[in-house]
Amino acid sequence: MTCIAVVGAGLMGRLIALSLHRERAKHGYQVTLFDKDDKSGHQSAAYAAAGLLTPLGESMHSEANIVEMGFESLKLWPAILASLDEYTFFQQEGAIMVSHEQDKGDYLRVKRYLEKHYPQYPVQQLNRQQLLQLEPEIGRSFNQALYLPEEGQIGNRKLLIALRHQLEKEQVNWLSQHHVLSINQQTKGCQLTYQFQDKSQQANFDLVIDCRGIGAKKSAINSANFSTNISGNSSVNDPSKLVDLRAVRGELMQLYAPDVHITRPIRLMHPRYQLYIAPKGKGFYVVGATEIESEDNSPMTVRSAMELLSAAYSVHPGFAEANIRQHVCQLRPAFNDNQPKVKVSNDLIQINGLYRHGFLIAPVMLEQVKQSVRQWVKGSIAAVC
Ligand SMILES: Cc1cc2nc3c(=O)[nH]c(=O)nc-3n(C[C@H](O)[C@H](O)[C@H](O)COP(=O)(O)OP(=O)(O)OC[C@H]3O[C@@H](n4cnc5c(N)ncnc54)[C@H](O)[C@@H]3O)c2cc1C
Repeated sequence: MTCIAVVGAGLMGRLIALSLHRERAKHGYQVTLFDKDDKSGHQSAAYAAAGLLTPLGESMHSEANIVEMGFESLKLWPAILASLDEYTFFQQEGAIMVSHEQDKGDYLRVKRYLEKHYPQYPVQQLNRQQLLQLEPEIGRSFNQALYLPEEGQIGNRKLLIALRHQLEKEQVNWLSQHHVLSINQQTKGCQLTYQFQDKSQQANFDLVIDCRGIGAKKSAINSANFSTNISGNSSVNDPSKLVDLRAVRGELMQLYAPDVHITRPIRLMHPRYQLYIAPKGKGFYVVGATEIESEDNSPMTVRSAMELLSAAYSVHPGFAEANIRQHVCQLRPAFNDNQPKVKVSNDLIQINGLYRHGFLIAPVMLEQVKQSVRQWVKGSIAAVC
């Protein structure tokens, strides 16, 4: 039997724990999932997210590999969702990019960028008449739009709930409210130190998969295989330390606007910010998201609230009558190059840096992690032989 700890039950942790648990009969995995939060996942970036699966919409902020991973993941999501008993909203009805007349320069810039860099993917230019047919309530405010027919969207909070119920049903050992304080790499395996009900405890695992998102920045990872400096900390050269992980603050609002009827994600191109409106069904909309280089996780600022709400109102005046149901702030985990990474060092695998693309690329990341676990198993069998 191979004892595996998955640390962090946000987006990646839930997906990985379930997937490895399902391979227990074949590979003998015994999975334990840790999280400092309760099972709601309200402390995760995954809970705060908008659930956009829009590779071309994100292309101005990301490298081409993220766009490709996004399109690949769009093909993989349906099978993942079909393997869960509970329904999760998923649609691939395209997304629309609009700009106000005074910002037409931004619209043309994005259009030219997509034509030059992603000619293989369909992008349709719509005039007001065509836009009125596709999204009647948006067509009133804009003369032109770009329609990206292959973009999608997922119910991120519903997915967290569906994964929770599936993990419970399939009896995965889930230690919620267990705050992992440190991961210590031993000569063989890893020792976790965690806090539960004010008590510090330890447990050993053959393999630890660290999915703590921005939480991985705060706690220690110590490796027996690397030299320690005078203060007793492991060497800064230890590759298992995520020294270049940073937080990118994101804020969004949940609005209830039963008189607004928008059926697909709308992105507003604007010189200062990229706003999107994601319909969540039954009159709910998410309006987001700010992007601020900060570790501050305090509630939304007045400036952000004004920017998000005025931009939403400029897309559809019906938002003036919307109720503000929630304002959310969370930290996106990002590396300096904004690339997601699966880092393997001995008996520790770290998945991090999913930045603003977690849902967009999660299925491909999951495949990469499963591949890393298979390689790790092969390596550890070879070491025993
Ligand atoms: C405002 C906002 C909007 C976003 N919108 C989108 C979007 O539309 N589309 C998209 O693709 N992505 C979006 N994202 C990004 C996406 O949410 C993240 O990339 C993704 O959630 C990262 O997944 P993760 O599993 O690495 O981390 P998380 O989902 O943050 O999960 C980390 C988990 O680790 C736990 N944890 C942390 N520290 C510890 C510890 N010491 N011990 C135990 N447990 C711990 C946390 O409680 C949490 O449950 C958005 C993010 C934000 C903030």
